[in-house]
Amino acid sequence: MSLAMYPNFPLINNHKWRFLHATIPSEITTTKTTTVPAGETPLELEKGWFWFRKWDSEDVASICWFAIIHVLAACAPFVFDWGPFLVAVVLGLLTGIGITLGYHRLLCHRSFKLPKWLEYFIIYCGAHAFQRDPMFYVNTHVAHHKYTDTDRDPVGGPNHGFWYCNMGWFCNNDHVAAKCGESRGGEYSKVPELKAQWFYRFLHYTYFWHPTALAALLYIHGGFPYLAWGTGMRGVVVHQFASLASYVSHTSGERPWNNPDTSTNNWWVAMLTLGEGWHNNHHAFPRSARHGLEEWQFDLTWELIKFLELVGLATDVKLLTEADKRRIESRWASSKQETDSKVARKE
Ligand SMILES: [Zn+2]
Ligand SMILES: [Zn+2]
Repeated sequence: MSLAMYPNFPLINNHKWRFLHATIPSEITTTKTTTVPAGETPLELEKGWFWFRKWDSEDVASICWFAIIHVLAACAPFVFDWGPFLVAVVLGLLTGIGITLGYHRLLCHRSFKLPKWLEYFIIYCGAHAFQRDPMFYVNTHVAHHKYTDTDRDPVGGPNHGFWYCNMGWFCNNDHVAAKCGESRGGEYSKVPELKAQWFYRFLHYTYFWHPTALAALLYIHGGFPYLAWGTGMRGVVVHQFASLASYVSHTSGERPWNNPDTSTNNWWVAMLTLGEGWHNNHHAFPRSARHGLEEWQFDLTWELIKFLELVGLATDVKLLTEADKRRIESRWASSKQETDSKVARKE
């Protein structure tokens, strides 16, 4: 599929989309606002997301793990060896796929189906990526799509700054719950289907034991170098690539689709995050299992889903439909019409 098939699309290489953002009327480029959506209670958030607030035990465990993996990663270059390095690469790929293919495309967006045994295996890999347990992640990500670019977006974006996107969202349960419209941390109102499955409840309640057990196994197997590379460096790289994706993908890059949000495409983020950097495409078509929509937009996660479909393991794979294309075409045509009429009125 080529975007050139759709003559109405802005096929501009808008690296300078911030400039466009400033010149096009804001109600067209960003229809979402920071006001509370109709019918929902206003947010009563504490001012600071880090200092001077209540920390629950999960918040403390999350920040401790975050500190531990960074300290271990800092030690890793001093104990470099090819064995631990290769283990870190393999574990990094497995846990990264657990997030992109498992947590994100399978659980958050239901872009395809897998047999339960394979679903649970891939999700279990994702549970070692230091992105919290599936219930927390999916609940938060669903809210990200619902409240993109508003103060309620729990994973951040341009309104929240780099540090909140990097470490704020996973170590402040009450703050994230309030943004998701919940009265307390752990309510997870957006994922009843996960709460109904024992596997996800088990992972939620035992979450921190799993990376701890893996760290212990690595240490028993090969001592400190395996711990430093297999847990520390691998954990930091996976976490930082994922955080980079959520921050950069809403602050700079190309915007081939006229989404009513700040989402962008970045080829280099896509390379680092197994295809998740085609984020403007993803916000345009959240259900699509394929994020790299053009032939040249390499999307490793999609290649894996294609393979799983080929061997009969992935079924009901969702792709861009004609209705999706028509929806985007009409949205672009109407916003262009609105812009033209505003410009005409000003003249
Ligand atoms: Zn996004
Ligand atoms: Zn998503």
